[in-house]
Amino acid sequence: MTDRKDMLVGAGTDTRLCHIGHDPSSFHGFVNPPVVRASTVLFPDVHTMETGQQKYTYGTHGTPTTDALCEAINELEGSAGTILVPSGLAAITVPFLAFLSAGDHALIVDSVYFPCRRFCDTILKRLGVEVDYYDPEIGAGIEALIKPNTRLVHTEAPGSNTFEMQDIRAIADAAHRHGCVVTMDNTWATPLYFKALDFGVDVTIHAATKYPSGHSDLLMGTVSANAAHWKTLEEANTNLGMCVSSDDAYQILRGLRTMGIRLEHHQKSALAVARWLEGRDDVARVLHPALPSFPGHELWKRDFKGASGIFSFVLAVDDPDQFKPKARAFLDSLRLFGLGYSWGGYESLAVMVNLQDRKIRKAPSEGPVLRLQIGLENVEDIIADLERGFKAAAEV
Ligand SMILES: *Cc1c(COP(=O)(O)O)cnc(C)c1O
Repeated sequence: MTDRKDMLVGAGTDTRLCHIGHDPSSFHGFVNPPVVRASTVLFPDVHTMETGQQKYTYGTHGTPTTDALCEAINELEGSAGTILVPSGLAAITVPFLAFLSAGDHALIVDSVYFPCRRFCDTILKRLGVEVDYYDPEIGAGIEALIKPNTRLVHTEAPGSNTFEMQDIRAIADAAHRHGCVVTMDNTWATPLYFKALDFGVDVTIHAATKYPSGHSDLLMGTVSANAAHWKTLEEANTNLGMCVSSDDAYQILRGLRTMGIRLEHHQKSALAVARWLEGRDDVARVLHPALPSFPGHELWKRDFKGASGIFSFVLAVDDPDQFKPKARAFLDSLRLFGLGYSWGGYESLAVMVNLQDRKIRKAPSEGPVLRLQIGLENVEDIIADLERGFKAAAEV
């Protein structure tokens, strides 16, 4: 692997995506790693068993296939170690369980992925962890919210559904002055467009379900930690018994090979659609960090290397009683866009966003929020479908 690692020094992102994670010479020259399905692993003798002196010991602790994926993710994140968990949501809950104890306080961004809030308000609360939500645009001001028992600060940028940007560096610096762990859900940007650990994040979280998978056919989460936090994370994962199948790990590694070129295409098409939307009178606002009109644009430009394919827009509707009827008519008229949760696959999706859970960043007053995942279809076809939506909404 040393030769291969040397070859990748200074190489471009797509080159690295093609070659990280598996060394063909380690397995008969096959380009891809073997899919090792395993629970039991045999030991040659009792001594080896008693001393645990063997690389693989049991299926829950990893296989050559899951290791290949973890190694690839570590390369992309610059992390000391990565765990694989069964969903993106588990990639949030496992580190929270790893780093929080009864009596601790956690600060969670208000524009957080909703099921994270649900976990905090139910299970964390029951376990005696106190949670407060903070404004995504708080920046260094987070320091005022840190209490003596604050142990963890969770960030997500851009935020779910409304895409507020966060000054991750400023938040991490403030949190570290008080000994807090900084976690970040970095699913939107992937490690290609934002390298969270370089901005002071300790533990970076991804729903690999999204762009790493890329095909809407599997669920997985990855959690990567810097050296100071890796041991605690790994131990918690072992204690909780979390693991994924080698079949799924193989598929995610396969997805990573093309993630760079897919993301470029998602980025280009989504921006084209966002600009087109911005020019329309029946659109109140487009919530996309790469648009200069977006309030968090400067932060995005300063810290991020790109934008992915998911954003929202606010349909301009005068009468609040018409928000939902018009949004429903818009969505029901779409033919190319599927109505469905999740994103990151090759196909376009649309949903009406529910912002009822927000405590600080309330829903916009100008109209309903519609979230679009722009897939790999031709942009003209995507726009033609959206034209249908606007026409249907106007007729309500
Ligand atoms: C989808 C998503 C998750 C959860 O991923 P699943 O694999 O669907 O559980 C977590 N965080 C963000 C930001 C997401 O968009």
